[in-house]
Amino acid sequence: MTRDVAIIGAGIVGCATACFLAERGVSVTVFDRAGVGAGASGRNNGLVEHTYDALTTALYEENVALLRELLGKTMPAEPVGAMLLVDDEPAARELAAHYGEFPELAAQVLDPDAALAQEPLLAGDMWACLLRTGYPISPLEATEAVAARARAGGAQFELATEVDLAALRRTHGEVVVAAGTGSGRVLGGLIDAGAVTPLWGVIVLVELAQHPRHALIEGTLTRGLLAGAVSDVAPFTLLDSPSWLAVGSTLLAGEEPRGADWAPRLLERGPSFVPSLAQALVRGTLVCARPKSFDNRPLLGRVPGQDHLWIASGHGGRGLSLGLASGRLMADAILAGDERVIPSELSSARLDRPAPPNRMSVA
Ligand SMILES: Cc1cc2nc3c(=O)[nH]c(=O)nc-3n(C[C@H](O)[C@H](O)[C@H](O)COP(=O)(O)OP(=O)(O)OC[C@H]3O[C@@H](n4cnc5c(N)ncnc54)[C@H](O)[C@@H]3O)c2cc1C
Repeated sequence: MTRDVAIIGAGIVGCATACFLAERGVSVTVFDRAGVGAGASGRNNGLVEHTYDALTTALYEENVALLRELLGKTMPAEPVGAMLLVDDEPAARELAAHYGEFPELAAQVLDPDAALAQEPLLAGDMWACLLRTGYPISPLEATEAVAARARAGGAQFELATEVDLAALRRTHGEVVVAAGTGSGRVLGGLIDAGAVTPLWGVIVLVELAQHPRHALIEGTLTRGLLAGAVSDVAPFTLLDSPSWLAVGSTLLAGEEPRGADWAPRLLERGPSFVPSLAQALVRGTLVCARPKSFDNRPLLGRVPGQDHLWIASGHGGRGLSLGLASGRLMADAILAGDERVIPSELSSARLDRPAPPNRMSVA
C-alpha cells in the first residue's frame, strides 16, 4: 500500500484528498503555509452549484452526496434555486433553452410578475430563468469539517509552515500539490505558468433587512464563468450563505485587485437588480482568487513526467461544488498508483497538451 503522502495545501481539495487517503489507512501529512481554509476555500460565496458542464456533472452530483454525508443537516435538503436575471423575454428563453441540456435543472422562464412573486427583493422589471440548483453552506465550516474528518482518520496537519517541494519529495513516498492558485509556484517550472492562474473575485459583505430566497445571478455570468470569462465589468450576484450575504463578483485576471476600488462598482450596479441594496449596510470586502485552469476544469493526477508527484488544482469558481469528489478521485489514483483512474477530461495529462487560454468578455 502507498505510504507517507505529503499534501501541500489545506484548502477543500487538499483536505478532501487527505481525508479519503487517511480513511483508507494511508499515512498523510497536510502542509499549509497558513491554515485550514486560509485560501479560497474559506473565503468564497458558499454556493454548491451545478457546473453547467456535461463533463463534470457526475463529479458535482457525487460532491453533493459527499457534502450531505459530511455536513448532515447543515447541508440544505433542497437547492434554493439559481435565479438568472435578464432584461427581456428572449434572453430568458435563450438561457432556458441553453440549460435545457440538463433536465435536472428544470429550467423555467419567469416573467417579471412571476419573478417578483418568487423573489420579492427584485426590481419589478426583470425577467428570469430559474434553475434547480444551489445549496448554500458555510465554506470555512465545510473545509474545517473535511479537515476534522481527515484528522479523525489519522491525517497530520503542519500549518503555518513554508514548504520545500524538493525536501518533501525526499522524505515522502508521494507528494500532492493542492495549493490552489499557488500550485504553479510550488511546482516551479514543472508545469506551464499558464496552467493554473488566479481569477480574482471581489465580494462585498452586506446586511439587508430581508434576504433573498434564491441565489441571484446576472444571467450572463454562469455561461461566462463556465467559458472561463475574464471581465472588466463586475457581473452582479447576491448570494446568501450561512457565513455572509455577499454582493459580487469580479472576474479579474492579473495582479490582486484592490477591494476598495471594486466595492463601489459592485454596489453601484446592485440596486438596479435589488433596489434595497441602495440602503444596505456594508460589513466589509473580501478579495480572493479562484484557481482557474487553462480549460476551466480541474487538473487531477500525476504531474506529467514526474514520478510520485501529483497535482489537484484548477477548480476555478467550482471548488466547493467539486472539491470533495476530486479528493476521492485523487485518493483512488494514488492508491492505485495509476492516474488512469481519473477521467481524461479531468486528468493532469492535459498539461502535456494545453488548449489555448479561453478569454471572452461578460457584458
Ligand atoms: C470570490 C469567490 C467566490 C467563490 N464562490 C464559490 C462558490 O460559491 N461555489 C464554489 O463551488 N466555488 C466558489 N469559489 C471557488 C472556490 O473557492 C475554489 O475553487 C476552491 O476554494 C479551491 O480550493 P483549493 O483547495 O484548490 O484551493 P485553496 O482553498 O485556495 O487552498 C490552497 C491552500 O494552499 C495553501 N498554499 C498556497 N501556496 C502554498 C505554499 N507555497 N506552501 C504551502 N501552502 C500553500 C494556501 O494557504 C491555501 O490554504 C469562489 C472563489 C472565489 C474567489
